[in-house]
Amino acid sequence: MLNDKLHSYIEELIPGREPLLVEMESYAKENKVPIMELVGIEALLQLLRVHNSEKVLEVGTAIGYSALRMARALPNASIVTIERDLDRIQVAEDYIERSKLGDQITLIKGDALEVEELVRNQAPYDAIFVDAAKGQYQKFFEMYSKYLKDDGIIITDNVLFKGLVTLTESDIESKRIRNLVKKIDGFNKWLMKHPDYHTVILPVGDGIAISKMKR
Ligand code: SAH
Ligand code: MG
Repeated sequence: MLNDKLHSYIEELIPGREPLLVEMESYAKENKVPIMELVGIEALLQLLRVHNSEKVLEVGTAIGYSALRMARALPNASIVTIERDLDRIQVAEDYIERSKLGDQITLIKGDALEVEELVRNQAPYDAIFVDAAKGQYQKFFEMYSKYLKDDGIIITDNVLFKGLVTLTESDIESKRIRNLVKKIDGFNKWLMKHPDYHTVILPVGDGIAISKMKR
């Protein structure tokens, strides 16, 4: 999102990760799994550290990369994470097992819009990280913000969608992408004027929105 040179400059300063995480980064690249990008995940982890989050809900596990990064960065935290894709669940379970961080992570298998009960069982959460189907962001937010502590934070990934949110509709050829852009733009507008939350959008990674309840 930042200009390329600055982006590479920051990336090169980020310390190396342990071998399992490096393996996951390659797996994601080879198999086109959209894990959070490096500067974005570092920003997320730092927010969670500053906020002292001890219980995090993640919507969108994929192969478990961000869940494991959070578990590693926050040794006292537990992560509840939701994924619906069976193949990815299997890969995630395998990586979580190998990481030995399984005690910190609960993987809920199913569509995030259908497992509210399971999520509620472990509520309340200090932080909620939304990183799943972009067309449903508002639904995820409405469903799960109920289970956030009063001083909790909600972080939503991919809100700038590779910059596509700046294009006008007629400039986007694919109907699917056009619809997604419309949804994300609608979500951003809805979120930014939400009466109960302060939100800032940061152009980090693919764009993250950070929301905190007003009080
Ligand atoms: N947070 C991960 C990346 C998640 S990619 C990381 O940074 O490592 C988004 C994932 O969300 C995909 O694996 C997709 O299958 C999952 N997903 C999308 N919509 C979902 C839904 N409604 N319920 C559960 N999982 C969903
Ligand atoms: Mg993402």
